[in-house]
Amino acid sequence: MPITAVASSKTSPEKVRTPLPDAEALAEGLNSHQREAFLHTQGAALALAGAGSGKTTVLLRRVARLISEGVAPARILVTTFTRRAADEMSDRLHVLLGEEATEGIWIGTFHGHSLRILKKEFADLYGKEGKFEIADESWQKRVSRAILAKADKYIKLPSPPFGQNLRLDPKMCLLGVSASKNTGYACDMAETSLARLYPDWEVPTVEGVAKFWRCYEMAKQKEFDLMSRVPARRLDFDDLLLEAFYLLRDNNAIRRRYQESFDYILVDETQDTSQIQWEFARVLAEKHGNLFLVGDVGQSIYGFRGCDPKLTVMSFQKAFPQGDIIRLPANYRSHELIVTVANELIAHADLDDRYRLPMEATRTGGPEPALTQHFDGEAEAQFVVERIRERLNEGRHPFKDFAVLYRTNAYSRCFEDALIGAGIPYQITGGTGFYNRREVKDLLSYLQLSVDPHCAAGDEAAKRVLNIASKRFGKTSRGLGRGFITQVEEQAAKKKCSFYEALRTGAFKTAQDVAIRDFRRQIQEIHDAGDTTVARLTAARFTGYDEYIINEEGDSEDEGEGSSRLENLDELIAACARFNAPEAMLTFVAGQIRKAQQSARSLDAINLMTIHKAKGLEWPCVFIVGFAMNLLPHHRSLRYEDGNLLPDSLEEERRLAYVAITRAREFFSLSWPQYHNGKALGPSPFLDEMPTLAPLVEAARQTPTGPATTAGDEEYTEEWEENGD
Ligand code: ATP
Ligand code: MG
Repeated sequence: MPITAVASSKTSPEKVRTPLPDAEALAEGLNSHQREAFLHTQGAALALAGAGSGKTTVLLRRVARLISEGVAPARILVTTFTRRAADEMSDRLHVLLGEEATEGIWIGTFHGHSLRILKKEFADLYGKEGKFEIADESWQKRVSRAILAKADKYIKLPSPPFGQNLRLDPKMCLLGVSASKNTGYACDMAETSLARLYPDWEVPTVEGVAKFWRCYEMAKQKEFDLMSRVPARRLDFDDLLLEAFYLLRDNNAIRRRYQESFDYILVDETQDTSQIQWEFARVLAEKHGNLFLVGDVGQSIYGFRGCDPKLTVMSFQKAFPQGDIIRLPANYRSHELIVTVANELIAHADLDDRYRLPMEATRTGGPEPALTQHFDGEAEAQFVVERIRERLNEGRHPFKDFAVLYRTNAYSRCFEDALIGAGIPYQITGGTGFYNRREVKDLLSYLQLSVDPHCAAGDEAAKRVLNIASKRFGKTSRGLGRGFITQVEEQAAKKKCSFYEALRTGAFKTAQDVAIRDFRRQIQEIHDAGDTTVARLTAARFTGYDEYIINEEGDSEDEGEGSSRLENLDELIAACARFNAPEAMLTFVAGQIRKAQQSARSLDAINLMTIHKAKGLEWPCVFIVGFAMNLLPHHRSLRYEDGNLLPDSLEEERRLAYVAITRAREFFSLSWPQYHNGKALGPSPFLDEMPTLAPLVEAARQTPTGPATTAGDEEYTEEWEENGD
């Protein structure tokens, strides 16, 4: 007899118990392979299957079955890769069983589970001394900068003897540390780990990053002491995994307790679990062996964190030689043609039948995909948005049925501009709108000051640039901090003048006066560079801004998503091509920011995101943009030997393209520009790997769309207002 759940109705004093669906009800519609995975109960199993084959569906229905058959939710641990994916799983489980029936289940990310374990166990083991703070991203950046600048007295670190000619940036260093920890290495093995993970690095680079790592670990121990006098330390996100694993590995009592408190461990997106995450799950399941993993090695896209698609399968087989490998061949998500094309593409991956089998389509027919070549990103965006509008006009789809996917964040700009221009609401998942990105705002502040420093926007810009200056010149302009800004604001209010004027005419300390003179000289230089937006923004970058941003943040890509801060700046300069006059550019941007804010409030909106962020999701209509050589595959991933492209540098990029195409349920479009930021690009080499698309590729090459038909500055402003609020 099925057990019953308390219905979530909170209004009724007598809680109504509704029966939970039984196994047969939960298995409804599943095919025989999916049923096998769904019914698998004891022992280890790995469901290896292509995209859209129901891996997440089966995993969740299996959890629901276990609960409906009487397993206490608290004895089940479900884990996945991102918080968003975990939230979505939780929601889907509530739909299957209702909220209260699942109460107590451990469902979340590896990091979330580790944090929960550490908080409890450290408190039990060490009392007050077991307290720790999270070394979050902003803390990491601040400390990394200080270490690399050797200038932070506050942290009281030994001066790290970094190589004279070595260029280390914070992002690159932190990435090295993170990847090492994710492969299970602690700081005492820094050199070994880095040399293994980055075979291309020269010895001095390995040594430099290893030294950085040591200083970084010391900072986590020391800084907090100095600040609060409480003997607590900091753990970064990777430490959470590492420390939780060490605790389970080294403390027999704790390990036994957790091993005994869970009967079932389930992992989604297992192809992107790092080694340390895998070990965490394995140890928890060691006793009973009830580990259920689902994944698609063809979708492994986190190599930069030390994830390796083949290792997923090999580690499973090594740890559980008797474990079952279940294949789910049928794809339920996409139309036949999409499945055919995705199969063709991924067949070129260095992954044989042991790792993945072709997907079988269950849905036939479907519309022909669109393949189009364009002059540049601007023309591409205009075209894509026009196609989206046409489909919207057919009335079959709400906005949220559409996704625009790109490889790098910087590529969102043209599409944001075009969507705003067309009055179509959009949302960026897991990212910031282009004109709100920090470096873009910084550069536009310089532009504003060169145009008019005396308006309200000029006030804001001056404060922003002063803030940059105070960081940029360190000690020499220390007097430019928040206190100084308040002082200038007060003077401006008293004199009834602009912030900039108060800055110009105020009486300050000598060091401040020197810094202000410098600041004004810079603005003058930018102004004198020319009357065009491009000339002024380029001049602003030459004042040392590029160098500053590299020192601050590093020029490495973001979370494997290709874009660096500098690429956003290149993109900003490209955006100026339409606005010769700086004033027109500033008006345009102010409008775009206002519109984007309104757009973000819309509940029904087009989805914009990088391919990384799209993992696990699906939409009826997917537009994959920037499908060009050096964009996808991204130039940062490509490696050459004697002028020849090394094919293995394409592997992860190909998997990204496969992830992108397999997000589509009904329709997909691939488009690419011929030129990007003034450089000629060819179409993505992955197009040649999908012979079914060959006639469409050929047709696209014959009929590229020309440059976007943009109006002049003034006309554009009018058009903008027409499309307005
Ligand atoms: P990904 O690899 O992208 O994570 P996945 O393998 O996890 O995909 P799901 O997201 O579980 O696949 O399922 C893809 C789509 O197929 C969903 O819309 C799901 O509802 C549907 N689906 C899964 N199994 C079946 C089935 N047996 N019958 C009908 N639809 C199904
Ligand atoms: Mg899934």
